[in-house]
Amino acid sequence: MSLTGKVVLITGASSGIGADAARHLAKLGAKVSLVGRNQKRLNEVAEKIINDGSPTPLSIAADVTQESQRIVDETINHFGQLDVLINNAGIFISDSLDAFDINEYDRVMNINLRSVVCLTHLAVPHLEKTKGNIVNVSSDAGTLPYDVYLSYCISKAGINHFTKCAAVGLASKGIRVNAINPGDIRTPIFALAGVTDTEKYFEEATKNYLVGRVGEVSDTSAAIEYLVTQSFINGILLPVDGGLTCSGPKH
Ligand code: NDP
Repeated sequence: MSLTGKVVLITGASSGIGADAARHLAKLGAKVSLVGRNQKRLNEVAEKIINDGSPTPLSIAADVTQESQRIVDETINHFGQLDVLINNAGIFISDSLDAFDINEYDRVMNINLRSVVCLTHLAVPHLEKTKGNIVNVSSDAGTLPYDVYLSYCISKAGINHFTKCAAVGLASKGIRVNAINPGDIRTPIFALAGVTDTEKYFEEATKNYLVGRVGEVSDTSAAIEYLVTQSFINGILLPVDGGLTCSGPKH
């Protein structure tokens, strides 16, 4: 489906799921606004998009916990409108009630949840003008309870419920709000969380998936495209998890 003329703001676009989604949506014609803290990696993603022959993106090096207003303002000043917001930036840590650090809890909640509510709030007036839509990148951890990923689970459960509240609250403005709930997707997030042998991690995780493999960023990009483009889909939490939440995790 063509996204020609549409402006898509994607947080966490310097890596993994966000980087691939940005490239994918740009290939469909979207003008993408790429947000992440790491300017070098944003530039690399922007260069790939330009080399694909897609519309030239805008890169905004910014921290989503501090600079929501600048992120929205720069996008509007550059492209003149906003059609789609993809709240994807996030971090993953391991903690539990036994090994708990309130500062780490706050860090996770600020990046994964608080920033999403703030950015959405600021984007609404612009999305109302275009009758646009929002896709939040949640996780299977938003519905499945993992005691060793306590803060992460709580943040993603918050995203799930925020998605539904926002869908109800923004319907009168003509804005749709949906989420994807991915299982394990092969990205740098696990190494950043301290997993030393990610190949071994993915190999062991494979047994959780009815389809016999973990996810790839192409899987999440396809799901994001679906939610962005389907006007009769609103307020859903779409599992992109190869059957994980159907069968339940096995390890
Ligand atoms: P990556 O680590 O590859 O990417 C995370 C992105 O978030 C990076 O672009 C990073 O940019 C950005 N980011 C993190 N903190 C901030 C911040 N404070 N301000 C701005 N940008 C920030 O991870 P994934 O692609 O895997 O994760 C993307 C989303 O998908 C996350 O919300 C994650 O929870 C979710 N998810 C991932 C799964 C997986 O298995 N990979 C499964 C389920 C959900 P930079 O470092 O440049 O700031």
